[in-house]
Amino acid sequence: MPFDIQKIRKDFPNLAVNVKGQPITYLDNAATTFKPKSVIKAVHEYYTTGTANVHRGLHELSEKATAQFEATRETIKTFINAQKISEIILTKGTTEGINLVMNSFGRAFLKKGDEILVSEMEHHSNIVPWQMLCEEKGCYLKVIPINDNGDLDIEQFHKLLNKRIKLISVVYVSNSLGTVNPIQTIIQEARRFKIPVLIDGAQAVSHFPIDVQALDCDFFVFSGHKLFGPTGVGVLYGKEELLNKMPPYQGGGDMIERVSFEKTTYNILPHKFEAGTPNIASVIGLKPAMEYLQSIGFADIMAHEEKLLAYGTQVLKKIKGLRIIGNARKKVPVFSFDLKGIHAQDIGTLVNEEGVAIRTGHHCTMPVMQHFGLKATSRAALAFYNTKEDIDHLIHALGSVKKIFA
Ligand code: PLP
Repeated sequence: MPFDIQKIRKDFPNLAVNVKGQPITYLDNAATTFKPKSVIKAVHEYYTTGTANVHRGLHELSEKATAQFEATRETIKTFINAQKISEIILTKGTTEGINLVMNSFGRAFLKKGDEILVSEMEHHSNIVPWQMLCEEKGCYLKVIPINDNGDLDIEQFHKLLNKRIKLISVVYVSNSLGTVNPIQTIIQEARRFKIPVLIDGAQAVSHFPIDVQALDCDFFVFSGHKLFGPTGVGVLYGKEELLNKMPPYQGGGDMIERVSFEKTTYNILPHKFEAGTPNIASVIGLKPAMEYLQSIGFADIMAHEEKLLAYGTQVLKKIKGLRIIGNARKKVPVFSFDLKGIHAQDIGTLVNEEGVAIRTGHHCTMPVMQHFGLKATSRAALAFYNTKEDIDHLIHALGSVKKIFA
């Protein structure tokens, strides 16, 4: 499909919604993304003519739902280039994926005195589970610092590496800074110490292609709703060898092979980690989301977003008193900023009056806010369906905010 932005925008009904009497300028894509019609259609069809539980019934609707459910898994495998279908665990989202690894891998294999390495720019969902584990086990959480541009301090990373580290869990793309981290370097270094690496790909998957085999990561997690898919579905990729060694996360239906009061044996991968009825509609809706991106192609998406990043950076820098928080060497078009003398919450409320949707607050990255001496930033997070006109609209709305506070 050629990259025709106006045609693409028509595929997303939510982009036509009016806010304050005009079509929304949606710049909150790091929080969640709008869905193409094909995703909405798939979810709608499941609820109107395709409702059935999966993996359980031999009747026609159940077989159809199971086939669709498993077809999504197959598409995910291709989408992230996993080697095997058994390596694709369906979860509720990124948060659940990390919690699964913490509860299963962490509880089984980490012991007192071990260290877990994260970075200063992690989302709370990649901090808190590890703190909980540290408290339980007597482990230590170590942190790779960031510099004032919002880049990881790789020199410090090298210094922090040691044999006590039993897991590195780092974000690929920062949701509050837009930084794209040098994940390959981190994984290669970790290999020298035989440390498993978990990549939080929540903000990466919508911006560039992922190849888990090329990355050679041990775990990779992401959420469907940040990838133009439904809420309530996510993916944990794990290397088969590792997943096989890990105990189940939750007990219940589907994850067992045989149950008796004397002894229960567990199902094979990936089902061992999927207890209970999953979010079937959302899993089915995730397939067309990935297919939509594949049909456009990441080469065009990246080229378009590169232009948005360059243009947005240039025009935002021209606003007097505006400081962009996050000027990393490699970024996606996420603009966190501070406007001197104006509270982020006021900015968010006032630009909404002009139909511009941005996010304000700590973005679930309080340590990042602390680093920059702020309580909150305003954040415009763009996706491939955004345009230069969207950025112009934001700039215009920020002009109005400045006038009010002048
Ligand atoms: N990690 C990052 C980098 C995120 O941006 C987010 C959500 O904003 C998450 C993890 C958590 O994702 P979810 O709430 O979909 O589980």
